[in-house]
This record gives sequence, structure tokens and C-alpha cells, in this order.
Amino acid sequence: MSLLGGIESGGSKWECAVGTGGPGLRAAETIPTTTPAETIERAVAFFEREGPVEAVGIGSFGPLDRRPGSPTWGHVTTTPKPGWAGTDIAGEIGRGLSVPVAFDTDVNAAALGEHRWGAARGLDTFCYLTVGTGIGGGGMAGGKLLHGLLHPEFGHLRVPHDSTVDPFPGSCPYHGDCWEGLASGTALQARWGMSAAELQDERAWGLQARYLALGLVAVISVLSPERIVIGGGVMQRRGLLANVQREVAALLNGYLGEATSITPPELGGRAGVLGAIALAESA
Ligand code: ZN
Repeated sequence: MSLLGGIESGGSKWECAVGTGGPGLRAAETIPTTTPAETIERAVAFFEREGPVEAVGIGSFGPLDRRPGSPTWGHVTTTPKPGWAGTDIAGEIGRGLSVPVAFDTDVNAAALGEHRWGAARGLDTFCYLTVGTGIGGGGMAGGKLLHGLLHPEFGHLRVPHDSTVDPFPGSCPYHGDCWEGLASGTALQARWGMSAAELQDERAWGLQARYLALGLVAVISVLSPERIVIGGGVMQRRGLLANVQREVAALLNGYLGEATSITPPELGGRAGVLGAIALAESA
């Protein structure tokens, strides 16, 4: 059976794996994200050792260029991550292994993984969201991964921010109090001086549920997804998902007849790398 490679390239680590296009993995390795040259070299060495692979799919942190025909297709573009802006990730991996490469966002890869084997099986319009260090989102509309001019950036949509209730100015370096700036793990840490895992104040978590719901209502209003699959470190908080579901229902106020379901992912941390392998099939 032919082997396919998948990479979930993140800002702190790369998850590399080899599989046959099913839900299992033949081999996997976690590589810390250091310099582009060193990280890419280690990934190429992994696939040489565990392959040969016929193609590689990459789900990458961004922003990135995946416009067909663009001279900078396969590059990470304006990332604030030192040394990585302008890196030709897809090109370097493809040349290093002499195989075709498919390239998309980390969240679209995870969405594809959940669509094949997880919480979005059988759906044709859904979103995958992760609330961790940042807020990222991908998904499908009409059975196709969401792209557009660049790619969706759910984390940077705007949500109402009442600074008399919450004077925190927001943590996004570009926008201040965008959704990610108010409701990511980074924002929680900056506002409350402790991580999501340490934070116990119920009022703080009530505000968190409210912000998450405000963003989800915007997503639901624009895309009308059948389901929103929402995970990430912040969503591990016990009771948070149920509070978010309640807040969303209250905000929608019965206006939409049929409600978008909001559920946790089923593949956990493996969604991205499994989806990247599924992406390789289209390379
Ligand atoms: Zn922002």
C-alpha cells in the first residue's frame, strides 16, 4: 500500500506522520520548531527514514499563501514568528523529498481530519475552531474546504467589547480587542495574570463563555454551518462548552429555526496531522 506523509507545522512544534490514508498512523514524530532550515531538514529526514512517501500534505500555521499559480504559493507570509516570514515550507519539503505537496492552513487540515474520521463525518458545511494560544478556524462549505482570496481568519473577527465591564484592551498585536485578542488563552493569561488551567474565577469564565458565544453567533450568521466543532486548550475547562451553547442559544433568541450543533472534536490532537495526510491525496 502506498504511503503518504502529513505535517502539522505549528509555531512551537511540527507533528510529522506517515500513513496510508486511513485513520491510523504508521510512524509519527514531534519536532520542535526552531529555525526554518533546521526544522525542515529534520522533517525531510523523518520522511526519508519512514518512507518512501508518494506525497506530503502540510497543514501550516499562517498567514500563508495557497493561491493556485501564485509565485509565493506554499510560503508562510507575514507571521510574527522570528525567522519564518517568507519561508517556502511547501517548496522546501517538496524539493527535499522530490514529491508533490498539498498545502493548507493547520485548521483546514484539522477540519479535513474531523470530516473524514471525527466529529464532522457526513457533513458538507461545518466549521472547525480551536481556542488555544490563539483562535483559529477552518472548515468546509458545500463539501469544499474554505479558502477565498487568502483563507479565513476567524480569530480576527470583531465582537462587542464593553470596556466598562472588561477594561482589558485585548492582546492581538494587530487589532487589540478582536475575538482572539479578547478570548484566546493568551488574552486570558494577560487579563487575569494566570493560565486557563489555573484560572478558577467563575465570573472570568462567564465572560469567556460570553465572548466565545458572540464570535460563534457571527460565524453561524455568515456561514450557516450544520455544526461547529470547537476544541483547543481553553475548551478543556469543565462546563465551558455547555455555557457557550447556552449563551449562543440566548443570543440567537430563537431566530433560526434549526440550531447549529456545537460539539467537541473527536480526534483530539491528532486531527491536524491526520488531516494533513488526507490532504496529501490531493497533491
Ligand atoms: Zn486580531
